[in-house]
Amino acid sequence: MISLQIKDYLERSSWIRKMFEEGIKLKKTHGEDQVLDLTLGNPDLPPPPQVKEALQKIIETYEPSFHRYMPNSGFPFVREMMAKKVSIEQGVMLTYEDVIMTCGAAGALNIIFKTLLNPGEEVIFPSPFFVEYLFYTENHQGIPKPVSTYPDFSLNLEALDQNITEKTKIVLINSPNNPTGQIYTEEEIKSLAKLLSEKSKIFGHPIYLVSDEPYRNLVFDNHQVPSIFKHYPNSLIAYSFSKELSLAGERIGFVAVHPEIQSKKLILEGLILCNRILGFVNAPALAQRLAAECAFAKVETNIYQRRRDLICEMLQEAGLEFVKPKGGLFIFPKVPMDDVTFCQKLKEHLILAVPGRGFGVSNHIRLSFCVDEETLKRHKKSFVEAVKTILK
Ligand code: PLP
Repeated sequence: MISLQIKDYLERSSWIRKMFEEGIKLKKTHGEDQVLDLTLGNPDLPPPPQVKEALQKIIETYEPSFHRYMPNSGFPFVREMMAKKVSIEQGVMLTYEDVIMTCGAAGALNIIFKTLLNPGEEVIFPSPFFVEYLFYTENHQGIPKPVSTYPDFSLNLEALDQNITEKTKIVLINSPNNPTGQIYTEEEIKSLAKLLSEKSKIFGHPIYLVSDEPYRNLVFDNHQVPSIFKHYPNSLIAYSFSKELSLAGERIGFVAVHPEIQSKKLILEGLILCNRILGFVNAPALAQRLAAECAFAKVETNIYQRRRDLICEMLQEAGLEFVKPKGGLFIFPKVPMDDVTFCQKLKEHLILAVPGRGFGVSNHIRLSFCVDEETLKRHKKSFVEAVKTILK
């Protein structure tokens, strides 16, 4: 028998998996091109050309030593390049010592939580949220505490204020957000930083702000993602190249630690040790080299933006309420009935979506932009008709 906790997790995390399995079945029965599958968050755009060039350079300069273990924190020259990137993006100067290469943002979040959390300490995050936050927190004996946002998914600072207690160790934000596409404004970040400084004083220990940023460079309509480091020193960034370089399978990202974070030396030592003992040992060697070569490249975000626009048109014509995403890979429209029922009804029309409760909020559904424009255009009419039929 497997552990009771994992049995419970299998049940709790089942929505995306269920829809994925349903999708395979439907495609088998009706044919791949008959099904509109809007469930997947697997970046489908080709990586930017710099990735192939970097691979070629790796082969041209190849040495057998490329595959060896390196320091658990990653290659110093790669960390140096990441420090440059973060310094520019955040407007705060970092050195290579402030960066630790990880197996994606997932690896980054897990080493942060493992390093910072004592059993029973709380991790607060705005809801709706990326479902793995529940598991990552509990992996390290923390207590996940989702806190609601406003209807447009902006930060509800009053709710955050009310929910921070002496047990709160981390506030975790994700902007641009999965599943909502919302970007928190500089004013929101400043107010959050002020709140966290006040609460840290009241409770006599730092409350760390962790910013999960896999979508930082997937932004539409020239929106800006404000700096976290400029406003709050006790902060850490979990970064990923899964989306901006379409390298999700290569498992590459990093943790960037604010250069003035309290107990910096201990935190860095802890993060590096956790990178080793959680089973990653280090970020993949070749992917680190790729990241260093392509640190400032990104996929063609215009393509995701056009898909977002098409999906927004479809939703508008169908009469569903939504907040237009400013970035990221998803949209989170409201549905006027139980979200699971709505997704089941959509499925009868060969359309697949994920129920919002998979992200902590019912009466919404999540749709992905990882479907090409041609497919979206081909299914537009049937999507609109299906939703209208369901809403009748
Ligand atoms: N955080 C969020 C909000 C995500 O959406 C994802 C992946 O979808 C991750 C973290 C994990 O990304 P990575 O592939 O870098 O581990």
